Amino acid sequence: MDKLTAKFDNILVMGKSGAGKQPRIDILTSDLGMKQLSTGNIFRSFMKIFKNEDYRGNTDKFFNSETQKFIPDEEIKNTLGNTVNSKIIEDFILGLKAHYFVSNGYYVPDSLTNQLFESYFSRSGYRGMVLDGYPRTIDQADFLLNLVDKKNTKIDLIILVENDDDLIIKRTMGRRICPSCGAVYHLEFKPPKDDKFCTKCGTEVILRSDDTEEKLRIRLEEFQKKTLPTLRQLEKRGIPVVKANGNLPVFTEEAIRKSLAEALKSKGLL
Ligand SMILES: [Zn+2]
Repeated sequence: MDKLTAKFDNILVMGKSGAGKQPRIDILTSDLGMKQLSTGNIFRSFMKIFKNEDYRGNTDKFFNSETQKFIPDEEIKNTLGNTVNSKIIEDFILGLKAHYFVSNGYYVPDSLTNQLFESYFSRSGYRGMVLDGYPRTIDQADFLLNLVDKKNTKIDLIILVENDDDLIIKRTMGRRICPSCGAVYHLEFKPPKDDKFCTKCGTEVILRSDDTEEKLRIRLEEFQKKTLPTLRQLEKRGIPVVKANGNLPVFTEEAIRKSLAEALKSKGLL
């Protein structure tokens, strides 16, 4: 089958954790010339900017525990003085904030996630992205739709990858991730080199510490409680939802492409 051809501004891919989003994203990005924008990578990239500066000071002092807010950016800048390269100070401060929540194991507030997302999304001119893992809450969804409106671009559609809980659990246990570049593999469907090494960078792949059955069940519940209401909100605001079967009898690139093409055609989007 020929590659998919269509012109979209942005696509959103949603689904339960482990439903099979990545293989669909791979086809969309390679066929349509789009790029994947996943929350995990956004956080990693900002925290890397922060870490690369090798900042030795304590970051807690920038957070006001009474108001539960960071002190204003101007004050943070003044405190940092010229210890940080002025060219990257804005990104450094975003990275510092992300680092504060993530390293303390705190829940990252929507306002910061939105800010990180916008900063990253702006670099692409707000176009050509396959969004993954964002938006995750109704507030994030509203923020995103207002942002694309303001920037004269759009979210053309949502691809919802559907799959059964039990099947997901069985499959997730075969998943491996590259700890250095973040590439995702599967022992059965997309094996790493010699079943062990990242084909992109050669690092030995690992089973994510998050991929235990208990943690998986929590993530599946999370889907019902948070992702589904977010999806409904986006649908309510007029974004078409295309359902893609995450569990195909044959799991090849061609089969995935065909199933995506059929799903898109059924909604008149291809
Ligand atoms: Zn790698």
